[in-house]
Amino acid sequence: MLELPEVRTFLSLPQPVLTAYLDVNPARPVNRGPDPEYLTWLNAAGKDLAGRLEQGDQKLFREQLERVESFLRGRIAPLRGLVIFAGPATWEFVPLQIAVENELHWGRPSVWQLVRLLSRHKAYGVAVVDHAAARFFRYRLGDLSELEQKKFVINISNWRKKDMGKVSRKVGQVSLQKSRGADRDTFERRVEERYRQLHTETARHALQLCERHGLAALFLVGEARLIEPLAREFPNDFRPRVAMVEEDLGGIVSPALEGRLEPAIADWESAQESEHVTELLRTPRGAVLGIEKTLAELQRGRIRTLLVATGIDEEFRQCLGCGHADRSEDVVCPHCGSERKVVSLREGLPELAWKYNAEVEFVGDQASQRLAEAGGVGGWLRQPKSSARHATPRAG
Ligand SMILES: [Zn+2]
Repeated sequence: MLELPEVRTFLSLPQPVLTAYLDVNPARPVNRGPDPEYLTWLNAAGKDLAGRLEQGDQKLFREQLERVESFLRGRIAPLRGLVIFAGPATWEFVPLQIAVENELHWGRPSVWQLVRLLSRHKAYGVAVVDHAAARFFRYRLGDLSELEQKKFVINISNWRKKDMGKVSRKVGQVSLQKSRGADRDTFERRVEERYRQLHTETARHALQLCERHGLAALFLVGEARLIEPLAREFPNDFRPRVAMVEEDLGGIVSPALEGRLEPAIADWESAQESEHVTELLRTPRGAVLGIEKTLAELQRGRIRTLLVATGIDEEFRQCLGCGHADRSEDVVCPHCGSERKVVSLREGLPELAWKYNAEVEFVGDQASQRLAEAGGVGGWLRQPKSSARHATPRAG
């Protein structure tokens, strides 16, 4: 599974390199047949880009474009999206089970969309709950993998002898037959109590799994009467990270589960993003807004987390010598006297964020619009205590 550290290694690929993001999802009819849309798009975008390149680069670029095209004309396994980095000595293929937008670049490796996908779609925990068990999964970028299972065991052997009538046990369910009212009450109380215990244990277990696997949220899937009491068992500070998906899957997990999870996760992510933008726009202390201020604080090592509007299309100038970046028009670096080059935010920001050890979070939808109106980018400053530890830029 692709993670951020691997994406960072793409930044050090030898340049120039061709980067292609392609939506190859076969669920879209236009992507089927001998001339799928993504190939038509690649061809047109390639011609357009080649026309804008310097003479020396055109041949190199065309060679790599042909290489990518012939690879794609061969059989590729069904995927929603893919990314290719191709250069004379480079071939990196990243298969994705998540929607991507078509993009083609030449020069620096373009990791913007990958960083954006990984930042917006974190790894989540999923607990599918029925009467018999809770099954735990990890979900990341369309991939669902089972972590473990916790069976709900209700041992009734000690109950029946003492004070109750005949008790029978079905799969995952306990029921009491032919008994007097008082017995039934005792029995039901015991079952309830046992379920409460099981919920407490399950919640504790789920919490541990979330910590161990670095899961950003937990989605409880099941009938409301099963997942609601379970949700109540989580500690208060974790509750905002628990989401409920009411669905009785009847034991069939895949692909019904993915189908139910995707919209629930999308809702959760967009609520989170919206909340983060609101928070950033509300707190001028401990936060910065706008490209100039954000770039300045970032390069002082003071930014803990950057918040970026997905549609942002801005530029800055960056020194080819010391790497210093800002929005001034200077063509010569005031720090080292080297030449400065125009860099798009999309190209340069992931690299700067990594160098200064800042996390990047992207926001889409309406939240993106609100952030765009406030400058498109901002960030939370580190707390004073930790700033000393993080102020030194990472090498490379
Ligand atoms: Zn410089």
